[in-house]
Order: sequence, then structure tokens, then C-alpha cells
Amino acid sequence: MKSRFAPSPTGFLHIGGARTALFAWLWAKKNKSNFVLRIEDTDRERSTQASVEAILDGLEWLGLDYDEGPIYQSDRFGRYNEVIQELLSSGQAYYCDCSKERLDSMRETQIENKEKPKYDGCCREKSLENGVVRFRNPDDGSVIFNDFVKGEVIIANSELDDLIISRSDGTPTYNLTVVVDDHDMQIECVIRGDDHINNTPKQINLYEALGWSVPKFAHVPMILGSDGSRLSKRHGALNLLSYRDEGFLPDALLNYLVRLGWSHGDQEIFSIDEMIELFELKNINSSPASFNQEKLEWINQNYIKTCAPSDLIKHLNWHLERLEVNLDDGPKIDELVDFLRERSQSLLDLSRSCVMFYKDFDDFDELQANKTFSLNAKDFLEDLLSHLSELNDWSANNIHSIIESICDERNIGFGKVGQPFRLTLSGDGKSGSIDKSAQFVGKKRTLARLKKAIAWINSQNN
Ligand code: GLU
Repeated sequence: MKSRFAPSPTGFLHIGGARTALFAWLWAKKNKSNFVLRIEDTDRERSTQASVEAILDGLEWLGLDYDEGPIYQSDRFGRYNEVIQELLSSGQAYYCDCSKERLDSMRETQIENKEKPKYDGCCREKSLENGVVRFRNPDDGSVIFNDFVKGEVIIANSELDDLIISRSDGTPTYNLTVVVDDHDMQIECVIRGDDHINNTPKQINLYEALGWSVPKFAHVPMILGSDGSRLSKRHGALNLLSYRDEGFLPDALLNYLVRLGWSHGDQEIFSIDEMIELFELKNINSSPASFNQEKLEWINQNYIKTCAPSDLIKHLNWHLERLEVNLDDGPKIDELVDFLRERSQSLLDLSRSCVMFYKDFDDFDELQANKTFSLNAKDFLEDLLSHLSELNDWSANNIHSIIESICDERNIGFGKVGQPFRLTLSGDGKSGSIDKSAQFVGKKRTLARLKKAIAWINSQNN
């Protein structure tokens, strides 16, 4: 028993593709069977290595591990040719040399006559020895299959074409390769986007012609934008990896994706283990689901607040590396994250809030500094500098008491000292509670930043 994910490496890994991969992966885990990754790269012109890497990176980031693969179709041309020869020898396929002009004019006439355009079988009995290879589709009867999502599907054979299984240059086409692979790789359940549902009856006829057993199918509806139109860039990113770049946790994205088109009562938050336990193909919604960026953000924030610290830090590290943060150069990351996670919207946001604790900034934000760093502020910052220099037990509580004592002495509110101190520490005025922030910035850096702020005010007043 196996399931598979079979992307074509002709662009980035689409968010909808990621959801299909998730469903196929969940099915494999649930059924304790293998999950196969197959790269469908027979289209040599459109397939790129960069796209293969985007698929591998995307699946790795999501944690959708595969038991077999990646298997590249481009390594299997020999096998496909063997099957094409078998179909030719048994008379279930034939060469066709109809010209493009003939096919085009036939098509036009059929459309004019309001008939469904299809090949007329002109070369069926010609016994040609080259050209494209067409599969001899049965003339009578129907193809019937029971899709896990769509229910019973019936298509009359008279509706189906003699499809091309090998191009004139000898390369096999998608409908042939997918059947050979799903058979050879012993795929029990084919889970894919419903943009392929029209191919399925043709593929079933191929299985039957080859005397192979037909797998089960689940065709997953596509994802629509929030306004019900086809999902496009204006609804949010389509590239899976841009969700990583924007600071989503993979588990939060998986949680969102699984709920998009699949449900278990009213439950919104699912751990991966719960998803595996509860997942059933038959609970996939047969109508398309709409993508909702706000809900995704809500789930992500929920995960950032509540997930295991080790998980959070693992994915945060990726962002911190991009910001060139050296974790040896500041507080313990797990303690800092515990302080910052509550008010972070995303991992990107969280990583940006970490920077002030590990790296010194060059300049204060000009606008903020002009507003906050007054001559009065300088007095308060000088008070802070002298008191904090004396402080040996560097804790948020003690720092808080020092700020309070300065406020009492000078008979001013906490904010009068707190605001310039916040700008002093952060450079841009953005930070959580000031005493905790100072604790995490550490004594050495805090004193240096106080001196820097005082110097800034002096330089403005000379
Ligand atoms: N390679 C096909 C695609 O990316 C999927 C084929 C399949 O799942 O059968 O659309």
C-alpha cells in the first residue's frame, strides 16, 4: 500500500500542490504505508533543476518526509518504451502520421458540427511504422470509477480520444508514464488535484489494456481566492516557500491547509498526530475551498504562542541566520523567545525583535530620536547610566526599581524615563517591557547604548 506525490518541476511548488502532498502524506501515515515522491520531469524543456530543488526544500520545510524517492521519470524512459512496445505488439496501440493540418481541420469541422473534438481513428488500421503512437481506446461501454471525493464518475468510451502515448520524437506522454509508474510503484491510492479528473478514465483504460489492477482515486478540489475566483497572486502568495520567508511555521501552515477543504467537526487546531489519526479521504469537501489569509495568520500566531519552544527555535534559527544574528553574542535564545513570542505576529516578526539583543545598531531612528531625545531626557538617561553602572544583580526587577526610584526622585511619571530608555536600547523604539528588554540586552550593551544616546543628545545641542 502506497500513496504518492507526483509534481512536475516546471515552476515553484504551489500552495495547492503542498495541500495535495499533505493529503497523500496523511493517507500514507494513517495507513502505515509508504509515501513516494516522484518527480514528473518528462517535459525536458519546461523542467528545471531549480524547480526540483524548490519541491525538495518545500517538502523538507513542511516535514512531509517520503519513504521512497525522489524517483525521476527521466530515468525511466526505457521502461516506458517497453510498455509502449507491448501495447503496439498486442494491437492496443498504433502509429499515426496524420499531419497537423489534417488534425486541425478535422477539429474545426467537429466544432462547427457541435461535436466533441476527437481523433477519428484514421490511422488505426494502417499498420504504420512511425509517427506518434496512439492508444486504441475502446469504442463501446463506459468507464466507471468511484472517487473518494467526487463519488461515482461515469464516462462513455465514445467521449474518449485515442490518446497519444508517445510523441514523434519517441518521448512518452503524461497519461502513459503516470499509469506505468503508479502500477510499478504499487500505488494503492492516487491522490491528486481535480484538474486531472478528465485524464483518469483514459488512464483506467490503459490499466485495463495492460491487464493491471486499477488504483483507487481521490481528486482534491482546487483552492480558490477569498472572492471565489481562481487563486491568484492578489489573494496571497502562491509559492509555498514564500510562506516560509514570510514567517509562517510549517505546522501552522499544514494545520491551515488540512482544514481548507477537510473538516473534523468544528475543530480548528490539529497537531500532526491528530491529523494523522483523524484524516479520512471521504471527509474531503467536494467543493472548492477559499483561501483566507487572515485565518492562516490567526493560526500561525496561535502556534507561535503555544508550540513547543524547541520547534519554534528550530524554525526561528533559519530567519536569524538570514539576519546574520550570532546567538553566541547575546542572551540564551530560549529565554528570550519565551519573553518575545507572546507579542509576535510571525516568525519574521519574532526574528526581527531578536536582533537588538545580539547586534548593535548604527544609528537611532531619526524621527523618533528628534522627538524623544530632549535635554530633559538626557538628565534621565544620565541618572540611569550612573545607577545601572552600580547594579550588580542585573535583573528586570532591579532595573524596574531603579527606573522607579529615578521617577520618584524627580517626581515624574514612568514613561518620561521609560520612553527615552526604550529608544536607547532598541534604536527604533520597538520593544516589549522595558525592564525585561534591558535585562536581555545585558549590562555591558545597556551602558554602552546609554552613552551613545547621551552623546547623540549632546551632538544635537552643541
Ligand atoms: N505531474 C502532475 C502535475 O504536477 C500530477 C500528476 C498526478 O498526480 O497524476 O500536475
